[in-house]
Amino acid sequence: MQACTCKQYKKLKVEADFSADPLWCAKCYMNLDIEDFSLSEALLKALFEWIGDYGTWIDWETDGVVAGGVALEAAHNERGVVLTELVKQQLSQFDIVFSPSTYAVRHRED
Ligand SMILES: [Zn+2]
Repeated sequence: MQACTCKQYKKLKVEADFSADPLWCAKCYMNLDIEDFSLSEALLKALFEWIGDYGTWIDWETDGVVAGGVALEAAHNERGVVLTELVKQQLSQFDIVFSPSTYAVRHRED
């Protein structure tokens, strides 16, 4: 994992991805070590559960979307919005935005 080179990051992004912490520098898109932030244990646990749930809508054999995948992704994004609000409360010195997953919406077969 490379370090964010922005001297002072003010704007952070909450985004789920494989093998990544859920916090990113919104300026250089570097993945940040979430342990470096003063989040509560309960919120950290919830965030990692949320990350662990990422991608359940992906059909790996076809690079498509599993049945009901669009709904799974939507539910994941709704949870992400709620968690982002909690992150905002605990890290009020930062400007925090949520970046929803769009995989299922982009890959679904209409
Ligand atoms: Zn940065």
